[in-house]
Amino acid sequence: MKITKIDHLGIAVPSIEDGKKFWTDVLGLELEGSETVEEQKVTTAFFPVGQSEVELLESTAPDGPVAKFIEKKGAGFQHVAFQVPDIVEALEELKEKGIKLIDQTPRIGAGGAKIAFLHPKATGGILVELCQRD
Ligand code: ZN
Repeated sequence: MKITKIDHLGIAVPSIEDGKKFWTDVLGLELEGSETVEEQKVTTAFFPVGQSEVELLESTAPDGPVAKFIEKKGAGFQHVAFQVPDIVEALEELKEKGIKLIDQTPRIGAGGAKIAFLHPKATGGILVELCQRD
């Protein structure tokens, strides 16, 4: 598999409004944009860091995946996203290797990127996202 860079780090927060203060006021990062992905019941806010980004994730519903994550593990680091040039090819390769996937096929995430998640059981406990931006 070819991975070109860490695309972003996903961090679950109860509130982007409160959560962003550390990243902007303390670390001096700039909020580039914010977007709600209804299908995922999440609002995301992006803070570019060099070639990568910090992505804050706030749930829009109590039964959303980010709300469930916070309920189980508390707020904090939620997933790492690797950028790949061809996500379909990458998923095929993972399937051939018997890696358990959450998404068998790519879906559309924030910023119109094609994304897919690997199951944490297959990655040593980390939620890993693949991400293709064209
Ligand atoms: Zn992500």
